[in-house]
Amino acid sequence: MEMEGISESSLFKNTIRNMEHSAQIIKLSPAALERLKSPRRAIVVSVPVRMDDGSFRVFSGYRVQHNHVLGPFKGGIRYHQSVTLSEVAALASLMTFKNSLLNLPLGGAKGGICVDPTQISAREAEQLTRRYTSEIAPWIGPDRDIPAPDVGTSSQTMAWMLDQYSLESGFSQTGVVTGKPLEIGGSAGRDAATGLGVVYIIEKVLEKLSKKIKGTTLAVQGFGKVGKHAALEAHHLGARVVAVSDVNNALYNPEGLNIPELAEHYDSKMTLSGYHGGKVISNEDLLALDAEVLAPCALDGTINSNNADRVKAKIIVEGANGPVTANANEILNAKKCLIIPDILANGGGVVVSYFEWVQDISWLFWDETQVREKLRTVMYRSFDKVWEFSKQNHVDMRTSAMSVSLIRLEAALKLRGQI
Ligand code: NAD
Repeated sequence: MEMEGISESSLFKNTIRNMEHSAQIIKLSPAALERLKSPRRAIVVSVPVRMDDGSFRVFSGYRVQHNHVLGPFKGGIRYHQSVTLSEVAALASLMTFKNSLLNLPLGGAKGGICVDPTQISAREAEQLTRRYTSEIAPWIGPDRDIPAPDVGTSSQTMAWMLDQYSLESGFSQTGVVTGKPLEIGGSAGRDAATGLGVVYIIEKVLEKLSKKIKGTTLAVQGFGKVGKHAALEAHHLGARVVAVSDVNNALYNPEGLNIPELAEHYDSKMTLSGYHGGKVISNEDLLALDAEVLAPCALDGTINSNNADRVKAKIIVEGANGPVTANANEILNAKKCLIIPDILANGGGVVVSYFEWVQDISWLFWDETQVREKLRTVMYRSFDKVWEFSKQNHVDMRTSAMSVSLIRLEAALKLRGQI
């Protein structure tokens, strides 16, 4: 039986399609497939906020806990005007698959509030976050479900969640969220982790194709927590980052953008606009650039049947969750474009979130070098596993990543007697 309102979004439908395709390849038991198609629990809350102008608004909030057969639920919280229950459910299932693939002892969840975070003040955001945390408090906690930042949320959002949850518990519980500021139990290296992971994966793909990251041309869509750090690290390793973008438009320089300078500009102005080291082009034009690698790091569905034909890059590394739609995937596969799927490519964030959680519950902290080394090990190992499965079974990397993930989940479901 299907939960009402869960399967409406194209992201949810795409995820089910990917799951069913891999299930056929690995001959997954029908019971495991059926179990993993539906989330374990979906929490829907209304979140009242007194706005700065004295008016009163009620926002819709969600927390979907997809599966916890491997360990406590884990996944980000998104603030965006397009958030729906179905999108959150799809993102929650991607977390289950990602954590399984990366061999972490964690299940999958996701949360979100339907709000445009650019249209509310810091005070309103704090009140919204505290009330949302209170509403979902019975279902989260260091042993149950550990939220983290995602689109439109930040380490500050996590600090408010941590504080509210701790106030309600009566004692400080730093392990309830990850992606926190360093001063209150955050991990060294968490800010850059997802972007770093994207670059480690780019390095591995290039290595398989007997190429090096130094001198490789790269276009990055989205310059937020993921895109900015991916661009910075790639630049640092000698890649030529020819274009980056934010929600408004893109900047292009065929000689390579000065990413550290651009990042400083973005941090102070919160927009790419006004930076003069590149030509302004549209987000759509960025997708069609002649770069060797394209890293979509913004939102889902940005590469779709309307623009996939124009993509020239031969390698796509999905920094965002679900940026390539199912139709676009077919078009790109036919063009022999190598796509490294989200559950592998953007796993760096949850890997370091896992490290942060481990540090919090053991009260022992690591330095950034240790974090980076451990992250690199997990990303390289996971890539190799997916690459090998793909070669042995003659399937693309998306099918391979989902297959590797489902094999572990099925074994866990069986061992626990759930199927
Ligand atoms: P963010 O809010 O920090 O940044 C999003 C960026 O995308 C911003 O630069 C924004 O201007 C840009 N953007 C928004 N809409 C766009 C559009 N239509 N076209 C081009 N650019 C657009 O979010 P984030 O945390 O960087 O997350 C980006 C993606 O990565 C999401 O899909 C998220 O789920 C995924 N992800 C994030 C993490 C993490 O650790 N933050 C981990 C794994 C996956």
